[in-house]
Amino acid sequence: QVMFRDFLAKGAFPKESDMEVTESTIELTSAVAEGSKGVLVKNLYLSCDPYMRIRMQKLTDPAESYIASFQPGSPVTGFGVARVLESGHPNFKKGDLVWGLTGWEEYSLLPVPETCFKIEHTDIPLSYYTGLLGMSGLTAYAGFIELCSPKKGETVFVSAASGAVGQLVGQLVGQLAKLFGCYVVGSAGSKEKVDLLKNKLGFDEAFNYKEESNLDAALKRYFPEGIDIYFENVGGKTLDAVLLNMKLHGRIAVCGMISQYNLEQPEGVHNLMQLIAKQVRMEGFNALDYYHLYPKFLEMVLPPTKEGRIVYVEDTVERLENGPAALVGLFSGRNVGKQVVLVARE
Ligand code: NDP
Repeated sequence: QVMFRDFLAKGAFPKESDMEVTESTIELTSAVAEGSKGVLVKNLYLSCDPYMRIRMQKLTDPAESYIASFQPGSPVTGFGVARVLESGHPNFKKGDLVWGLTGWEEYSLLPVPETCFKIEHTDIPLSYYTGLLGMSGLTAYAGFIELCSPKKGETVFVSAASGAVGQLVGQLVGQLAKLFGCYVVGSAGSKEKVDLLKNKLGFDEAFNYKEESNLDAALKRYFPEGIDIYFENVGGKTLDAVLLNMKLHGRIAVCGMISQYNLEQPEGVHNLMQLIAKQVRMEGFNALDYYHLYPKFLEMVLPPTKEGRIVYVEDTVERLENGPAALVGLFSGRNVGKQVVLVARE
């Protein structure tokens, strides 16, 4: 298992050594007895997600975050795909495949598997349930479709566009955007990622934000008439530049602000008055509030995924002990696509 060692200071960049690989045995006791609601699972794939950095910090006020901190000395937890080995829960039986919250362990005892969905469709890569068909996909769907209500001909900008969520906004949702006749531009942090966006993931244009000394000028180049919808993944300077380029009645879905997670103090945003001038709606959201839409989302995404019309890029590391490095790598952009940890093939 991968244990979380101790809380990080605000502003500290996460390191591999903040986590430790240890061994222990699981006591089954009565945890999975019939009627106990517990399940024992074998973890197959684990998901690396930027919000896990927020969980590495001690919260002085629970209102500081939408999710509880990790417990020092306890295993890291997160989304994953697993097979049920024993079940005391009426909804799950031995052999079922599930995705949901689990531990960074080879085997986990999940006392409350209400956060688990049974995987009904196994004719697609199981790892997709950590991303495309899991929480990342639902996030893209909720933020773009539910919050932004894209309309025919609108212009869309996505930051961290080649990542787990972003590639969906540009692709699935970008595919939809194309159906709507939208124009989609993404930003990412390397040439490889920019090429991926343009050549594989269906973006109309893409640029490397690290090579742009003036983000405002870059956005004006791609959006001479302005931006209708901004899918916000990074915050900071990018958000400030976007605010200067929003169109009248634009919408900003605030999904995440990864550029701020390792700062002691968040950067100031200077152009908020543009929200008034342009009558822009800017709204934060939490994917966990949209679980009820998961069946609707799946219905929309499964057919094009099976037909190969949706391409999903994953970056997979093998073995649990390589999980900490993979997780930390999210914050330097080491991952190309959804970062997955393969724990066991079956
Ligand atoms: P990604 O797969 O996109 O991985 C993170 C990427 O962020 C990196 O690959 C890197 O790409 C980019 N990045 C890292 N540091 C910086 C920085 N300082 N400035 C700009 N970009 C940076 O992660 P996800 O797709 O899973 O998550 C994207 C965002 O969505 C995050 O902010 C996350 O917190 C948020 N999120 C929110 C949810 C919600 O419910 N609201 C649910 C899921 C995710 P690059 O090389 O392009 O810089």
